[in-house]
Amino acid sequence: MKDKPSPNYQIEDIIEVEDNILSLEDIVRLANNRKRIQEYEIRYKDCLYSTILMSLTHERYTETEAKLLWNAIVAHMKSLNNNLGRQVGIAVASLDYLSNIKNELSDPLIIEERKSNFVAEATTKDELTGLYVREVFDVILNKEIDEANRTRSPLCLLMLDIDDFKKINDRYGHQEGDTVLNKLGTLLNSSVREMDTAVRYGGEELAIIMPRISLKKALNAAQRIRESIEKTQFNNFSVTVSIGVSQSSDLLKTPMDLIRSADNALYEAKERGKNLVVAASIPE
Ligand code: GH3
Ligand code: MG
Ligand code: MG
Repeated sequence: MKDKPSPNYQIEDIIEVEDNILSLEDIVRLANNRKRIQEYEIRYKDCLYSTILMSLTHERYTETEAKLLWNAIVAHMKSLNNNLGRQVGIAVASLDYLSNIKNELSDPLIIEERKSNFVAEATTKDELTGLYVREVFDVILNKEIDEANRTRSPLCLLMLDIDDFKKINDRYGHQEGDTVLNKLGTLLNSSVREMDTAVRYGGEELAIIMPRISLKKALNAAQRIRESIEKTQFNNFSVTVSIGVSQSSDLLKTPMDLIRSADNALYEAKERGKNLVVAASIPE
């Protein structure tokens, strides 16, 4: 498979299609450069696309099927980027396209089960917390909101922020702060239902997408999470969190609406003294 690189390539640009596997980095480069993929198409005739798809999914496709799928995935990535106003990686776009749109992957909703077959695991999960990364949040929230609007079923969003985390870092060190994040990630993952998606939204801000659940039940779940965090012992200290909860409705039906209202509720929980769960006010 190796070919002599043309002289105008940088060393790091040379993609080795050895062992029928490409690294995610390689695939990202190909996804973002139409000219490059055309060159590789010529160079690796009859096996480039099946290799890319094999690397992404560990499933075997013919070259023709793989090329069609690849083009659809790249188009899907561009449309996600446009709709979300931020850059979604090729890994997330493939996952979303193959599982949610094309139903190619056996279980449409549960990334969990597919993740071992997914080379991109490292980019869908945050290393420190073990929670999904922000770009997975964007894709899933978008999809769940569509579903909630279509089926008129409730969707709840929890936004959770560690109280006085700066003080924890200052007092016990950044490394101890990292341990807190790590433990909270594990706790969140074990507290949510399989259909929920727990993510690291930003630094010390976490979120949970809860489909098909009433606000009342989501508030109960949030209380349970808040209490179990409060009870968790770290090296002779404990931490608390504040949680804002919002529910989709006719007046809150875009991802932005839902995020904003959960964020406002979270802000109110902080204002009211922290270590609290607050429900978003219902818009008039
Ligand atoms: P509040 O109760 O209002 O949320 O106060 P706070 O101190 O938690 O909030 P603030 O936003 O001022 O500080 C957040 C801190 O979270 C600052 C930042 O250093 C810390 N942080 C963010 N990401 C990480 C991380 O990955 N590891 C560690 N150890 N700290 C982090
Ligand atoms: Mg914060
Ligand atoms: Mg905080």
